[in-house]
Amino acid sequence: MERISEIFGSMVFNDSVMMKRMPREAYEALKETIREGRTLDRSVAEITANAMRQWALENGATHFTHWFQPMTGITAEKHEAFIAPAGNGKILLEFSGKELIKGEPDASSFPSGGLRATFEARGYTAWDPTSYAFIKDNTLCIPSVFCSYTGQVLDKKTPLLRSMEAVSAQAVRLLRLFGMKDVNRVEASVGAEQEYFLIDQDMLRRRPDLKLTGRTLFGARPAKGQELADQYFGALKTRVSAFMRDLDEELWKLGILARTEHNEAAPGQHELAPIYTNVNIATDNNQLTMEMMKKVAARHGMVCLLHEKPFDGVNGSGKHNNWSLSTDTGINLLDPGKKPAENLRFLMFLAAVVKAVDEHQDLLRICVATAGNDHRLGGDEAPPAIMSMYLGEEITRLIDTICRNENYEQIRRDNMETGISHIPVFRRDTADRNRTSPFAFTGNKFEFRSVGSSMSIAEPNIMLNTIAAEAFRGFADELEGAEDFETAAWDLLRRTFREHGRILFGGNSYSVQWREEAQRRGLLNFRTAADAIPHLTDEKNISLFEFHGIFTREEVASRRDILLDNYAKVTHIEAMTMLDMVRRDILPAILRYSGELAAASVSKQAIGLPFECERAIIEELASHADSIRELAEDLDEAVSDIPSGSEVSTAAFRCRDSVLPAMRALRDEVDAAELITDAREWPYPSYSEMLFSVE
Ligand code: ADP
Ligand code: MG
Repeated sequence: MERISEIFGSMVFNDSVMMKRMPREAYEALKETIREGRTLDRSVAEITANAMRQWALENGATHFTHWFQPMTGITAEKHEAFIAPAGNGKILLEFSGKELIKGEPDASSFPSGGLRATFEARGYTAWDPTSYAFIKDNTLCIPSVFCSYTGQVLDKKTPLLRSMEAVSAQAVRLLRLFGMKDVNRVEASVGAEQEYFLIDQDMLRRRPDLKLTGRTLFGARPAKGQELADQYFGALKTRVSAFMRDLDEELWKLGILARTEHNEAAPGQHELAPIYTNVNIATDNNQLTMEMMKKVAARHGMVCLLHEKPFDGVNGSGKHNNWSLSTDTGINLLDPGKKPAENLRFLMFLAAVVKAVDEHQDLLRICVATAGNDHRLGGDEAPPAIMSMYLGEEITRLIDTICRNENYEQIRRDNMETGISHIPVFRRDTADRNRTSPFAFTGNKFEFRSVGSSMSIAEPNIMLNTIAAEAFRGFADELEGAEDFETAAWDLLRRTFREHGRILFGGNSYSVQWREEAQRRGLLNFRTAADAIPHLTDEKNISLFEFHGIFTREEVASRRDILLDNYAKVTHIEAMTMLDMVRRDILPAILRYSGELAAASVSKQAIGLPFECERAIIEELASHADSIRELAEDLDEAVSDIPSGSEVSTAAFRCRDSVLPAMRALRDEVDAAELITDAREWPYPSYSEMLFSVE
């Protein structure tokens, strides 16, 4: 026990370290800068850098880096040693305030979506003092934002921070109307539940598809998959539990509140849930968590697969983004609470989120749109591509009451005078759940389930914060001008729930019936990432982002292009990998086995034995081999048809319409052949070998 509290945060330059190591005045100044979001004073930066350097050196660091989150979806770092020549052949260990505040990586190769040509390589990183610096791999990592020479945003952290400002400003406006004058800031809290697979390292070595693309591009269904559900929440295997212990410890050192670990639905699948924290830190922490999962797995001779769908036909991995809003006075605005007076406030915030999700279904779909997540969304194990919300039985019933009641006066009297008798007091953990909903209210937070396991949670939270800010703005605008606040508030509530009720759905979101029903309701259904992403630059979205100061028009356009380009590139790499595997491993294996059988038939025939069985298999194999060869040609053609240099959406559409279907057809044929080919001849470990590779 004591050990845990000792190691927790031991590699983080957190508040208590700052307090201990910095002169009182500088510490207070830094805290204030962080709290008020003001620019850092130069002398305070110098003192902070000095304290950081000393602390880092004492904790084994030799290098420092600005740690930032470019549009690649992973984090980037460029290590610099602390050393400086002392002039006498020796060295000094230096780290200045300037180096703390600003970095200048040569940034030409990061995706910029046309915001910057390669010859304009200059990019800046700037310290984000609201996320703590930490030590990883003997390197002091300084969480930073990343922008171009001209100030355009090239990363995920900057817009996230901006969206936090936006949602805070608008929520505070709304709270003022509820008489909450003491609130100065509202912050989004996030807990990201991370799903992942573990397989033995040896499997990866033998699977070029896993190595190059993170998922298996071939592989017949195993005899045993997840149908017995004997893995879900089951006891941990020894190797897995050793991994989890080790991982927890590494994460705790980094101040990450890793808390819950359990087996997930598929064999080899697991989940880690941290305790929630503010969205900026939660995003940094989730990036670190994914990185540590991979590193620690390697130490245990395993590989951690973070892809959304590593195995076809087996549950994929998601990341449940639990999101709520809290005031700086410690009130969770999505907590129904016990007091009726607070319930009007809760209902107001709830209604705003309902409106936000309904009006911005497109943005929520876009922010989870990747080539990888396409294999998951819309399967029978993950939310569909259609956005909808589930509020739980009790709240749904309550909203119905509000909507149905034509007599507004009566509701108000009931509510305000008798304590809103029809509003139940909700327990934090309501027993009813709807695991199929993309966006579910779970007692005091929303759980956005469509996020893919390998994605950064920055985008989903940028969207959530922004669309919430917009809904709060609309509400505040209306209510600030109201003559009688309460009348206007109930009126607004009822109108909102009526207008946006179509987004609420409590049934099975996986079903075909829902797809039809959703269409009748006029909900959006962007089946693939390629369908969704182009809508990022719809005029209404550009105005939304510009209004709240999240992105400029150019920045939105650049993001759209980066996302589409990524979709096309991922698909292209997968297709090329498949062709390589088919031509150099799979077809030769099938032909080798046919050859063996043919030789056996000839021998049998020579001594007068029947060889019907061999013959039948050879024929079947020959027919598969022919089809495989043809389908590979088709795929090859489809790939060469991907235009380069034209509008990125053209390439993405080509991938969606011809490359991916060709990949599917080729895969089906290969998987069928795998089932009748001698396992010793098959070049790759099978699904059963991989899924059950960790003892
Ligand atoms: P559930 O079992 O309903 O999913 P848990 O309490 O296990 O709920 O929490 C799941 C995740 O949600 C955890 O990461 C947790 O920290 C996070 N979470 C809990 N409360 C909040 C909140 N108010 N805001 C954001 N995330 C939260
Ligand atoms: Mg959950």
